[in-house]
Amino acid sequence: MKRILFIEDEPHLSRFVEMELRRDANDVVLAYDGVTGLHLALGEEWDVILLDLMLPRMDGLEVCRQIRTLKKTPVIMLTARDSISDRVAGLDCGADDYMPKPFAIEELKARMRVIFRRQEDSAEASPSLLTCRDLTVNVDLRVVMRGDVEIGLTKREFDLLAVLMENANRAMSRETLLDKVWGFEAAVDTNVVDVYIRYLRNKIDVPGQASYIQTLRGIGYMMKT
Ligand code: CA
Repeated sequence: MKRILFIEDEPHLSRFVEMELRRDANDVVLAYDGVTGLHLALGEEWDVILLDLMLPRMDGLEVCRQIRTLKKTPVIMLTARDSISDRVAGLDCGADDYMPKPFAIEELKARMRVIFRRQEDSAEASPSLLTCRDLTVNVDLRVVMRGDVEIGLTKREFDLLAVLMENANRAMSRETLLDKVWGFEAAVDTNVVDVYIRYLRNKIDVPGQASYIQTLRGIGYMMKT
């Protein structure tokens, strides 16, 4: 069951769409003006917001803009106007999709299904964010942050840090790290791991504070959360 907020001032259209969406076992809430709609949009969790462009008290573009400053809830804009500039304005203010009126209810449902599928796909994607205390590694973007300071790492340093963080609180031998980070090209000595751990500590650690990476004598290293 999806929770749908429909912000639309035409009661006939509202009730028709509400009835159609409820038939598919959705939970639908109606708002008849922009201010009430915005209040509901921000105050509760919705799977999608259907938002009319021309609304009393606050227009749809402004409602959408204000939703976007605080929330990522998908928004489909509905409007009687269908000029390119309106469409662009709708998408610029952060709407996910745009439906010119009049529309066939089946098309609206199809566009909602696309949005729901997109949400499910992104929910299933493996977590690309690794964290250890105030250290955050975004594996997809290859960005490392300590608090809100970005830390520049070389490719090898990044790979080493990512492997340590994926295996946080597990002892990693030099051989394992060499194998995972340097791979088959590693006809190199395991000392290279020690060298890179030192590079990494110089960049990520805060002077005077315990290192993120613990040295396990005779074994290797461990990222401690
Ligand atoms: Ca309207």
